[in-house]
Amino acid sequence: MIPLCDPLRCEAAGCGAATCVGAGIASNAEMFDRAEAVIPGGVNSSIRAFRSVGGRPYVVARAEGAHVIDVEGREYIDLVQSYGAVILGHAHPAVTAAVSEAATAGTSYGAPTPREMKLAEAVAARVPSCERVRFMNSGTEATSTAVRLARGYTGRDRVVIFHGNFHGATDALLAAGGSGVATLGLPGTVGVPAGAVAETLVVPYNQVPTLDEGVAAVVVEPVAANMGVVAPSPGFLEGLRVECDRVGALLVFDEVITGFRLGTGGAQQRFGVAPDLTAFGKVIGGGLPVGAVGGRAEVMSSLSPLGPVFHAGTLAGNPLATAAGLAVLNLLDDVVYSELERRAARLADLLADACATAGLNMSFPRVGTLVGVFCGSGPSPIDFDSARTTDEAMYAKFFHAMLAEGVAMAPGAYEALFVGLGHDDAVLDDVAERAARAAAAVAAAG
Ligand SMILES: *Cc1c(COP(=O)(O)O)cnc(C)c1O
Repeated sequence: MIPLCDPLRCEAAGCGAATCVGAGIASNAEMFDRAEAVIPGGVNSSIRAFRSVGGRPYVVARAEGAHVIDVEGREYIDLVQSYGAVILGHAHPAVTAAVSEAATAGTSYGAPTPREMKLAEAVAARVPSCERVRFMNSGTEATSTAVRLARGYTGRDRVVIFHGNFHGATDALLAAGGSGVATLGLPGTVGVPAGAVAETLVVPYNQVPTLDEGVAAVVVEPVAANMGVVAPSPGFLEGLRVECDRVGALLVFDEVITGFRLGTGGAQQRFGVAPDLTAFGKVIGGGLPVGAVGGRAEVMSSLSPLGPVFHAGTLAGNPLATAAGLAVLNLLDDVVYSELERRAARLADLLADACATAGLNMSFPRVGTLVGVFCGSGPSPIDFDSARTTDEAMYAKFFHAMLAEGVAMAPGAYEALFVGLGHDDAVLDDVAERAARAAAAVAAAG
């Protein structure tokens, strides 16, 4: 690797390289200190700061396939994959070429483009419930737009969400849940006024709530992947469909993680339940900032300019992001998904073997291509009350032991592990050896 320059001293050295990342010269600590002086907590998404596992983060200089390389030149097998946004592996040539080609034609116009139309067609062709698709810039925007649309379409205010599901940084969906009971209107974070969640009801996952005619929408992760990985119980999603239909509420699937990750048609295809609206993000942007809402034409036509529900975005349908998204969707088919599922199963098995051999009580619940981590001896979690019994201190130890072995997992006990096209069997063999050493080290340390 050729170091470009030292960004910590580049002003003094008169360095003009805009792309400089100081690879091979700066240390993670120096870089992160400098970030902390100008970015709150040194990060732009709070989990990246390592607060829940302790220690200081590695600072990424570049990535390729299954690997990320930090500014010190250290390489890690990456199981984060941008929290699932990357599915073909980092810097996949098809994505890189599509983005570079798009960039030479301009990065944003503020006018319709062929690519956004093609990406919408690609989504509609793969996900039958999405007759119409509107793009935006993040999963957070997708869920907040879906909620506004559902409220506007139904003329109702109440939104039902599930304890332990995550829908991004949207005020109305950042509501606190109680233990095993339905809770109404408690802000989930400081800064969310009580009024913003006054019409948000939080209920336990995997139980079908009884709704009334005040409910605009039920918003659900069809596979929960932000409290570890929790499968929907048989009948849960079907029950939500029936209950929503009974009272005229919209069923909104938050497929920001599961969309184009579990398979071509996402969780709704896998479980055979069609929502009214679907929120997408992550994979659909190929690692660039994208979100989307898809749904029945009749519901989607309530969005402006056809209908009264406002939506807008300066960069929505962005040429680079839609180019990346198209490149990714074009390479994903049933053959690729069954290979990804085989790799996910292998990852879950090898991690379970490593932990069992070392005598660690850890399990790796899996739904299709999604792998979770649960630190405890009980059965796999079914809701947030059971998911939160995970031993977070144990996760932190395993996380750091894996990192020391050069395997990067997400720095939080409730995140999923991701494999992509970069994680071939040679890489997974490597993960197996390193996980065995990491688990043994955790066991030895007590
Ligand atoms: C990541 C995620 C979001 C938020 O998406 P952003 O692009 O981070 O705003 C919403 N819902 C689910 C299920 C997610 O996993």
